[in-house]
Amino acid sequence: MKTLKSALSALSVALVVLSVSSAAQVRTADPVKRGLSRSEFPRTVKITDSVYGYEDFHSAGMVTVTLFVVGADGVLIADGQGSPAATQKLLDAIAKVTPKPVKWYIVGSDHGDHTAGNAVLPKDITFIVSPASKAQMKLDAPAMATNREVVNVGGIEVQAIFAGRAHTGGDLLVYLPRQKILFMSEVYLNRVFPAMRSAYPSEWVKVIDAALQMDVDLFVPGHGFIEEPKAAREELVEYQKALRAVIAEVNRLHTQGLSVDEAVKQANWGPYAQWYLAEQQGPIAVRKVYDEITGKLK
Ligand SMILES: [Zn+2]
Repeated sequence: MKTLKSALSALSVALVVLSVSSAAQVRTADPVKRGLSRSEFPRTVKITDSVYGYEDFHSAGMVTVTLFVVGADGVLIADGQGSPAATQKLLDAIAKVTPKPVKWYIVGSDHGDHTAGNAVLPKDITFIVSPASKAQMKLDAPAMATNREVVNVGGIEVQAIFAGRAHTGGDLLVYLPRQKILFMSEVYLNRVFPAMRSAYPSEWVKVIDAALQMDVDLFVPGHGFIEEPKAAREELVEYQKALRAVIAEVNRLHTQGLSVDEAVKQANWGPYAQWYLAEQQGPIAVRKVYDEITGKLK
């Protein structure tokens, strides 16, 4: 009894079950405002018996999400974490759920905060990666030859889908058609100000349109928190609204003939100024949308 009890309490620290209640949850990417402390991370979020989210909180001040799928033949992960130590913690968390080996890795985002820990992954892991992300990561694996690749994770179908350029240009969506779950990686940054350092702003809006038209019950973000299904869809719509608002504001400033530096100073993000990282990401977004307007973004 004692052993079971301590085993259960050890589990309760690391594993939370995705809530389907409609209890009011503060909509924010800020863990503190959500009533969570740093010591609660990393944590595994059980979505179904075979599909899990994993949320870690890093020094950059943001939750980074990995999705992992446990099939009869092994484990597939979608995105990693940002350092070898952080990715090792992810592997340790997976090992608490299943003894099966990690065999597949879908590169949703090629950015370092999702890939810089890849050195600790099993050497024989199979990467599923878009051509653009393969080039960015200098990966020695074949890139996808089409825009959709199906992986059979032992009884569970997982699709890697390139639906267009968004946050990185090589963005892949990870779709489980039977479970109706869509992991969106950095295409969906839940309540985080649109981060555009390597983005394609207008194309990003269209990729979210495509996602919203898919048969999906639960949209999972790459940053910010995993929400219950209804809130997750509402927040994805809200995220697309934020992208559109940022693009519209920069277009307004450009139409006035402002230089890009002047536009950075005058940008008014309205409610999105309160979103996570707005101060840091606002100026980057102005420059990127200017590049798009002036045709510098190819
Ligand atoms: Zn990221």
